[in-house]
Amino acid sequence: MTAITLVRGDITGQSVDAIVNAANSSLLGGGGVDGAIHRRGGPAILADCRRLRASHYGKGLATGKAVATTAGDLDARWVIHTVGPVFSDTEDRSHLLASCYRESLRVADELGARTVAFPAVSAGVYGWPMEDAARVAVRTVRDTEASVEEVRFVLFDERAYEAFAAQVG
Ligand code: ADP
Repeated sequence: MTAITLVRGDITGQSVDAIVNAANSSLLGGGGVDGAIHRRGGPAILADCRRLRASHYGKGLATGKAVATTAGDLDARWVIHTVGPVFSDTEDRSHLLASCYRESLRVADELGARTVAFPAVSAGVYGWPMEDAARVAVRTVRDTEASVEEVRFVLFDERAYEAFAAQVG
């Protein structure tokens, strides 16, 4: 069974096998956690992303999917990029948010990663209410059969940490 742990802090400083990035479909970098990972991880990550775009993802990575690259200078072996859905008031997209966690865990298992750090996917620029983002994240990890030993949610601020803590119980 996969253990869930919570940490308040910056995901780029975590010592884990794989760090999950809340990327956008271009895979070519953005703001928020994506920008932080590319800044601290250095140019090798973007170079890998460009290769992936050229070889397999000409139109970009679809929402809810995940793909791995090197972690560059980070203290991790891999970055797993996943594309969260933009929150919508009128359409329930939580299956796509759940898919980000499921697909990232599937990729982590393929890589042989035992420890994986996740940010609160979609809960920043993509506008997902934090309490609900935490609910989907924790429920999906609990419901997913994986060889990963530890899923560490790394929450950037106190509000995010409290929202996840309320779900983990
Ligand atoms: P999205 O576009 O999927 O909403 P964001 O990067 O805008 O992605 O935000 C996702 C979450 O990651 C937000 O809660 C944001 O506060 C958080 N975040 C931003 N930078 C970091 C970081 N360095 N480490 C961990 N979490 C971060």
